[in-house]
Amino acid sequence: MKIILLGAPGAGKGTQAEVICKHLNIPTISTGNCLREAVKNGSPLGLRAKADMDSGRLVPDDVVIGVVKDRIAKDDCAKGYILDGFPRTVAQAEALEAMGVEIDKVIDLEVPDETIKRRLSGRRVCEGCGASYHLDFKPPKQEGVCDACGRALIIRRDDEPATVQDRLDVYHRQTEPVKAFYAARGKLYRVEGQEQVEDTSALVLKALEAGGISEE
Ligand code: AMP
Repeated sequence: MKIILLGAPGAGKGTQAEVICKHLNIPTISTGNCLREAVKNGSPLGLRAKADMDSGRLVPDDVVIGVVKDRIAKDDCAKGYILDGFPRTVAQAEALEAMGVEIDKVIDLEVPDETIKRRLSGRRVCEGCGASYHLDFKPPKQEGVCDACGRALIIRRDDEPATVQDRLDVYHRQTEPVKAFYAARGKLYRVEGQEQVEDTSALVLKALEAGGISEE
């Protein structure tokens, strides 16, 4: 099964990707994580992406499309995968289609902007493995330390309040049109983000069931 998770930054795509990953046993491809890894390693890809990422802008389409194309060609993607944070523009969605990729479902996590701002201010990520935590909703067992790998938790540079507003503007302007792209293909499933993460996950899993109702 090939699934896309759509939604604003901080809508909970990463957390729901983990849930689907366990449920269907398919890998998650997060373009944000791939790019952060490239920045950390100082690779040519990272050097191209860094300034855009730090300021909350989108990285150029050709750069991310290349990242996804290489990643989905790997063996572990043979049975399907979850795309978290891609496509973020209609041009990216068209490129995916042009590659011959048949997406089964697009799950759109809907969360109001005010909730997003509250969530992102409490988000902490692991500088080692990229795992994501929240001071209120998903605290690590030991403060400031990753449960999974033991490295330090940091605030992402693009989670600073001024940048968050820019990212939300970018989302509304450039990514929201992607919903219409998939709605027109009968693939869009809207899930309203709930106060409790588990309640959102239950709705996501329901949307994955065969025969779920898609938006026309
Ligand atoms: P994320 O962790 O998904 O919020 O991504 C962090 C940053 O990486 C974004 O703010 C963009 O600068 C960049 N990025 C991630 N995915 C994409 C994409 N599909 N298209 C363009 N830029 C992206």
